[in-house]
Amino acid sequence: MNVFVEKFADLKILRYSVPGFENLDLKKKIYIYYLSQAALSGRDILWDQNNKNNLAIRSVLENIWKTYKGKRDTQDFKLFEIYLKRVWFSNGIHHHYSTEKIPAGFSVSYFDELIDRSKWWSFKIPSGVKFKAFIAEIRDIIFNPEREKKRVSLDSEKDLLHSSSNNYYHDVEQSEAEKFYGDLKASVGKESVSFGLNSTLVKESGQLSEKVWKLGGKYGKAIEQIIFWLNQALNYTENDLQKKYIGTLIQYYTTGDLALFDEYSIDWVKELSGEVDFVNGFIEVYGDPLGIKGSWESIVNYKDTEATKRATILSENAQWFEDHSPVDPEFKKTEVKGVSAKVINVAILGGDCYPATPIGINLPNSEWIREKYGSKSVTIENITQAYFLDSMNNGMLEEFAGSMEEIERAKKFGYLAGNLHTDLHECLGHGSGKVKDGVNTEALKNYYSTIEETRADLFALYYIMDEQLIKLGLVPSPEAAKAEFDAYLRNGLITQLTRIEQGKNIEESHMRNRQLISCWVFEAGKAQNVVEFIYSDGKTFVRINDYQALRILFGKLLKEVQRIKSEGDLEAARNLVENFGVKVDRQLHEEILVRFKKIDIAPYAGFLNPVYELKTWPCGTPNDVLIRYDEDYISQMLRYSKEFGFLPIDSNR
Ligand code: ZN
Repeated sequence: MNVFVEKFADLKILRYSVPGFENLDLKKKIYIYYLSQAALSGRDILWDQNNKNNLAIRSVLENIWKTYKGKRDTQDFKLFEIYLKRVWFSNGIHHHYSTEKIPAGFSVSYFDELIDRSKWWSFKIPSGVKFKAFIAEIRDIIFNPEREKKRVSLDSEKDLLHSSSNNYYHDVEQSEAEKFYGDLKASVGKESVSFGLNSTLVKESGQLSEKVWKLGGKYGKAIEQIIFWLNQALNYTENDLQKKYIGTLIQYYTTGDLALFDEYSIDWVKELSGEVDFVNGFIEVYGDPLGIKGSWESIVNYKDTEATKRATILSENAQWFEDHSPVDPEFKKTEVKGVSAKVINVAILGGDCYPATPIGINLPNSEWIREKYGSKSVTIENITQAYFLDSMNNGMLEEFAGSMEEIERAKKFGYLAGNLHTDLHECLGHGSGKVKDGVNTEALKNYYSTIEETRADLFALYYIMDEQLIKLGLVPSPEAAKAEFDAYLRNGLITQLTRIEQGKNIEESHMRNRQLISCWVFEAGKAQNVVEFIYSDGKTFVRINDYQALRILFGKLLKEVQRIKSEGDLEAARNLVENFGVKVDRQLHEEILVRFKKIDIAPYAGFLNPVYELKTWPCGTPNDVLIRYDEDYISQMLRYSKEFGFLPIDSNR
């Protein structure tokens, strides 16, 4: 099986393998099959959450692709196809990462030609709307640069809800939403539900109210399917706790009651004995500038036994790491609870995890559940492996590494070090530290995500060079830590700029966090020349002169970032993020873009899912699940729209 599938625009499509699926026992395979059907059933929810026009636009573009009678081997049609592929990739009209509206790349007149020469009677039109008016509206949304500009705006100068084009709030001012949820939170104790997580906040005749995402409510048609497949899965669970929490999840989807989601999350954290696991729900809040609304996502996975040993060693030693961290004693946990960790292989990616996917998961997000019951943390082995296989031969290392020594170190230790960083970040980093009594993490407002990722990364960077890791048998040599430091700073100071358009600043939380850390240590170590830029042939490289001193700087910043989180110090958070994480050196940026363009690789990757087929012949009961890797990108996207397109295109009109 080839990892690399295809490349277009700034994207590449890869394929992950599902190692050992054939050897799982039948019951587990069927369990995975039903859960994966549930994982694909919520696709339309995410599309609609991302923008209210997404489902309509997708349906128009797909009808053109399927029925256009004009010539297809032209440059114009190629450009149209690339646009459609980009929209599929982003689950909507905004770039999945920058969240800016994707430029069509072809002309308005060509769009009209595409419409004219496609089967007009197979276009889906919202009820009560005329065909011409509908198409004119779609055309305007695609081509008018002033409309639906950006999915998530973090520009603190503006009203974040007005300047964001997501579909989580209707006619609501930022201050109104903040007050609405602030009041709800203030009315209950510390162990409150995640108010607002599963609803659209709307203002109708001056009154704020929530449209809850549940069976019979908003997104009910897709949720009905998710519930159907979860019910099938119920018969194949590995243990009673799985049965219980799937039951609770179904109840939650049925009623929309967030207390049930917390109950489900608590049982889910406790369930550790099964091999198969999944995420299915409204989970991450990155799509909402206020960090309240959960985008729908799902992942189904099973344990990678070998690699799990590595993460287990870390979590068994969680208390040691907490005790020895450079953080102020008052902000340390006296007892680190339930930092469970395992390494998994994904079997299916859905919703906000598809096709672009995280390489690790740490859930639940509810802070009080994490503190009281711990969290589940996983590294996704088959995804990181696919990335690594793809990255070794794409030319990036040769162009941007500062020396041959660095390249060799990366090839030898890069994979191990990268995985270890993810394990430390997910298993220990996020779970470490405690917040002062009376401090709410929302005090950090739109800086929270960046500060939290910074904290987890620093924890990993600080410890990856600790002798304890060698003692625990996790690292064969101190060279591994050096490889990680090289890679981190090379990325934070240089290569991640390849993902930013010329003239723009950094907005995405993880990127802000990486630049924040890299620039901060660069500045802080200037007097001792810990890290420096070196120049050769008009190219800039990063050189680390003192790895031990660098580690101490990581520790120093970790201490400060933990204090900021623990005390809810908004002012300090803003200063750190704005001074180090946001602004881009224009001259360096330009140079990096030129160099990157020459290597010609896509900065973003996404993954195709395998195809599963449930065998029920000859007696009607499931007797095997087959897996295939032969579906191409366009076929998969069209099939998903057909088989899992459960929501009407005008759900918001
Ligand atoms: Zn993280």
